[in-house]
Amino acid sequence: MNIVYYCRHCKSYMGSLSAAQATPEKLGFTALNPEEYAACINYVARDDTTYVKTVCEYCESALAQHQDLQLSQTPIQ
Ligand SMILES: [Zn+2]
Repeated sequence: MNIVYYCRHCKSYMGSLSAAQATPEKLGFTALNPEEYAACINYVARDDTTYVKTVCEYCESALAQHQDLQLSQTPIQ
């Protein structure tokens, strides 16, 4: 089985691992609750690959900036 990471926002490929390199514990999968697990992790039996949605550095900083923008546009009441 392979494990492929990609960005949930821009869909850019971020890397992959083989199952031999990674255990669920190492990957932090066990720290996720079932909802998060279902939302972030998608096993495709046809490809024998687990796709993991994450956020790339670019989108992370873009989101952080966007958040700042929204905050600064919020009228002070
Ligand atoms: Zn991204």
